[in-house]
Amino acid sequence: MYRLATELGLVGEVSNDSLGVLVDASGRPEQLDALGRRLVGEAPPLARINDVEVTEVPPANGVEGFRIVDSRAEGAPAVAVPVDVATCADCLRELEDPADRRYHYPFINCTNCGPRYTIIQSIPYDRASTTMSVFPMCKDCRREYTDPADRRFHAEPNACPVCGPQVSRPLEEAAADLLAGQILAVKGLGGYHLACDATNHEAVVALRRRKARDDKPFAVMVRDLDEAGRLCDLTPAAEKALTSVRRPIVLAPKRAGDTGLSPRIAPDLPELGLMLPYTPLHHLLMAAVGRPLVMTSGNLSDEPIAHDDADATTRLGPMVDGTLTHNRAIHIRCDDSVVRATPARDSSAPLGVMDTDRAETSPGRVQMVRRSRGYAPEPIRLFAPTPHQVLAVGAELKNTVSVAKGQNVIASHHIGDLEHLAAYRSFLQAVDHLCGLTGVTPEVVAHDLHPEYLSTKFATELDVPLIAVQHHHAHIASCLVEHGRAPDAPVLGIAFDGLGLGPDGTIWGGEFLVADLHGYRRVGRLRPVPLVGGNLAIKEPWRMALVWANEALGHAEAVRYGQVVDPRWPAILTLAERPDALLTSSAGRLFDAVAALLGLRTVVTYEAQAAIALEAVAAGAPAPDDYEVDIHGGDLLELDPSPLVARIVAERDRGTATAIVAAGFHASLGRAVAEAAAALARAHGLDTVALSGGVFQNARLTHHVETGLRVRGLDVLVHEHLPPNDGGVSVGQAAVAAASVVLRH
Ligand code: ZN
Ligand code: ZN
Ligand code: FE
Repeated sequence: MYRLATELGLVGEVSNDSLGVLVDASGRPEQLDALGRRLVGEAPPLARINDVEVTEVPPANGVEGFRIVDSRAEGAPAVAVPVDVATCADCLRELEDPADRRYHYPFINCTNCGPRYTIIQSIPYDRASTTMSVFPMCKDCRREYTDPADRRFHAEPNACPVCGPQVSRPLEEAAADLLAGQILAVKGLGGYHLACDATNHEAVVALRRRKARDDKPFAVMVRDLDEAGRLCDLTPAAEKALTSVRRPIVLAPKRAGDTGLSPRIAPDLPELGLMLPYTPLHHLLMAAVGRPLVMTSGNLSDEPIAHDDADATTRLGPMVDGTLTHNRAIHIRCDDSVVRATPARDSSAPLGVMDTDRAETSPGRVQMVRRSRGYAPEPIRLFAPTPHQVLAVGAELKNTVSVAKGQNVIASHHIGDLEHLAAYRSFLQAVDHLCGLTGVTPEVVAHDLHPEYLSTKFATELDVPLIAVQHHHAHIASCLVEHGRAPDAPVLGIAFDGLGLGPDGTIWGGEFLVADLHGYRRVGRLRPVPLVGGNLAIKEPWRMALVWANEALGHAEAVRYGQVVDPRWPAILTLAERPDALLTSSAGRLFDAVAALLGLRTVVTYEAQAAIALEAVAAGAPAPDDYEVDIHGGDLLELDPSPLVARIVAERDRGTATAIVAAGFHASLGRAVAEAAAALARAHGLDTVALSGGVFQNARLTHHVETGLRVRGLDVLVHEHLPPNDGGVSVGQAAVAAASVVLRH
């Protein structure tokens, strides 16, 4: 503002207040027009302009020049806490310029880039309230910081080699250790990574062993887009995501042939998670190493990522050969975000066609899988302001928490699976920190219906009015928020998910809901079947395969299947046949079952591994969509995949290629889901269908359902910016609570 206004010769002042930026400028009409135009057109990369409001005021008389006045701190803060941003082009140029005073300085940053969320301890956001407060600026840095014309004017983490943070050892030395096959703990922006040479198979295998991570894929950092393109097929959307200032990990199809990477990086998967360097330290390290590095979260198995130095030494020390750390503290942990690039497809293509050849010509999509560093805590706009401040505590797995205040929902970074004590501790910190940063004092707390989730238990112990939001209603609500849907504009929601408690005491996960933000009514579901072994059903897909074989083909076939896969089958079958067995309509468990019946995975080492394998094996195969699925009408429509399961077993026994059977499962189920949803939408006078739940991370199923709905003339809302999985649940909960009337007692 200051630079533009002085360039244009305007007089007046600019300030921040709790609502945003306030400009008071006087000049000729054409000067003021130019200001309005250039303000939007030349906004710095990180500026976020929601609205520009112009009011005529009397001209300022006797004022000379343009000045910046001190921020008005009155009122609760509503201005967003900024996200962490990848190193900008200007800083990179200086980083590589031997004449620059920050040549090869691993902490170079400016107002357009650098750490933000991860170093902010409290608001208002200025240097004193960040972990940079322990580094007093030198004279040169101070001059930049106080000069409105400088790129580093009020760059709170501003630093240089004279006054700023330092790395623990020379980067060239760390690079040499990595090239020699060592595993290093590398302190980054939101936590520590475990790093090793991605082309060194022994190092990758050792990393898996030490981290106790069997199969779950590792992310790979590459130096630039060219190197990324040598490893993966990138759609324009994937390239855009990779190079964006948010720098997420991008899941994209591996290139065929030998890329030189260890096959243990993403075992049995057709995709690889790539990211580009996002801190100067990464840029320097990648240049020194000159080859792709595995950069996986610094943790043991599924624990939260280590971000605190002492904790990292304790937890990561035994896993690594060395450390590359620095003395700029990370205040709040923040994992790398993950997006999935889905193949470019023509949604007008006939049913059953998967057009992967068009990837070259159409941009494709990226879909959020884990929304964390670079995205959190950027506000998500609500349709209307919330009458009360809300805290939403999320689900149990892939937990995030959200707050709602004014017209915004602010979701936290990724917290993790609360069944781990360390993650629960991290959850408590995140709740405190997010409320503190946003100035939210919860007046309503939204939680899941499930009484045993630790997040629910936490909520019920607070002395604040509560709103229990059904899990799948929250999923659909998150999709409605993402698409800016009015709170009282109902859609037909298809929630295809893992497990979530329904109000009837059964475990839901394949539901058709007439829903808006005020409420929902279930109008359809997948046929419920016994859920045997509770959480073990997730880890051991053969159990649900046994159940579905029993349902679809009868006892004898179930016995035949059970005998082949696991000696414990008689006990499971007995449980499944008990009249009081707990029932589930989960779509996620159906995918697990089909994957197991096809022999892809009978046990898994990470959530949804079997379903991912089922989608992967179908790649490139013709997709028959004529496998039968029963749809029964009635008050509650029921989609019964029994004939589909029976057909799959028959095709398997007949020796049909697994790829074709898997593709046929996706296409046929997708066709039936679209058909059922379209009938329900028609019956309830709805023209829009929203897809949410973790199963819609499956791009193939999403494609079939979406296509089937569009050809029937329906609008389809799919996730792009929020994860369809449980990471998005807290946003949906917050939106439902914001739209509801709360009765106080
Ligand atoms: Zn910069
Ligand atoms: Zn300095
Ligand atoms: Fe869910």
